[in-house]
Amino acid sequence: MVDVTSYAPRAVATTQISQAAGRLGVDDAIVEKLRHPKRIMEVSIPTKMDDGSVKVFTGYRVQHNMDRGPAKGGIRYHPQVTMDEVIALSMWMTCKCAVVNIPYGGAKGGVICNPKEMSDGEVERMTRRFTSELIDFIGPEKDIPAPDVYTTPQTMAWILDTYSMNVGHLVPGVVTGKPVEIGGSLGRNEATGRGCAIVAREALKTLRIGVDGATVAIQGFGNAGSVTGRVLQSMGAKVIAVSDSRGGVYSPTGLDAAAAEAHKEESGSVVGLKGCSAITNEELLTLDCDVLVPAALENSINTSNAADIRARVIAEAANGPTTPDAQTIIDEKGIFVVPDILANAGGVTVSYFEWVQDSARFFWTEEEVNQRLESIMVNSYKEVLAEAERSNCNMRDAAFNVAVARVSKAVALRGIYP
Ligand code: GLU
Repeated sequence: MVDVTSYAPRAVATTQISQAAGRLGVDDAIVEKLRHPKRIMEVSIPTKMDDGSVKVFTGYRVQHNMDRGPAKGGIRYHPQVTMDEVIALSMWMTCKCAVVNIPYGGAKGGVICNPKEMSDGEVERMTRRFTSELIDFIGPEKDIPAPDVYTTPQTMAWILDTYSMNVGHLVPGVVTGKPVEIGGSLGRNEATGRGCAIVAREALKTLRIGVDGATVAIQGFGNAGSVTGRVLQSMGAKVIAVSDSRGGVYSPTGLDAAAAEAHKEESGSVVGLKGCSAITNEELLTLDCDVLVPAALENSINTSNAADIRARVIAEAANGPTTPDAQTIIDEKGIFVVPDILANAGGVTVSYFEWVQDSARFFWTEEEVNQRLESIMVNSYKEVLAEAERSNCNMRDAAFNVAVARVSKAVALRGIYP
């Protein structure tokens, strides 16, 4: 087994940005600025637990860049959260927002905790105290959190309420991915998966593979993975395997993504889905399929498995699922990768729509949201593909070229203050 911990995500993200800047001939001073996050916050979050004890959690919020707009990015709750990881994720958010050309910088947050072992009350109190510790630094014009791994619309509702109670009036634009009843957008919950399915379809088109009957394997069946499966299936693709942290299921003739979602909702896992055989996460990654969707955590595609991957397309619903060494192997094998900062940008794109709707106090239909998402995803895909052709590079390098060109142009125009 390869030691995946040797891929410190911050170093990977910093290298990706620096290398793109190098290819583009960006001024050294600008590159140096982009290598460093604007603001790194670490806070202690004392939380009253149900048994009367107080537990102190550690939380992070990193604002990487705000040159193109307010900082934007999710908050994850996970036992393996590290500051290094949150910094990397904030850098990827800056690039992601630039790839799809929405007016945001990048941020990310994380709390080291295991929400699966906490009651709703404990998660609520932790979330409210975390919000309160960050209150001077977030806001619709400053930094706008959203859901990420193991955070939900309900988590966003608690952040919104804590912030709004403190300033004295409802501020819907302080978070996105909140419930529609309090200013959320229709289509936001499905947006990451829908966007990923759209670019996977475009990638198949590029390779002249019909989406009808195309086989799909999905590692990680949370919000992003499950919706990617459901939408690809509605486009005619066949989902042949899905997995989560407890294991996976496989059916060569195709399984029903909605049934897998229902089974996971009921039992907590996709494991045991009727009509399927059991499969491990590692086996799923190396299945013969048209589209592989890594939708779990960082580094799941690494040098221990990259050589065995048999997919034609990898559509990265997760952030940072492929290590740089694995990318080299995948390039040699001729596998077409739609990189994370493009493939999962549908989530933040509809977050942007939500924030626009909140500030206008005027809400769109779901069709309108989905149509605008479709057009941004398809245009961004085409732009990145054109850059890959122009620069004769893979889609990841092309996406970073597009992103870093936009961000560095903004930095150059604004100049270094004072
Ligand atoms: N957490 C999501 C991501 O990684 C969404 C971020 C957002 O909507 O701000 O892109």
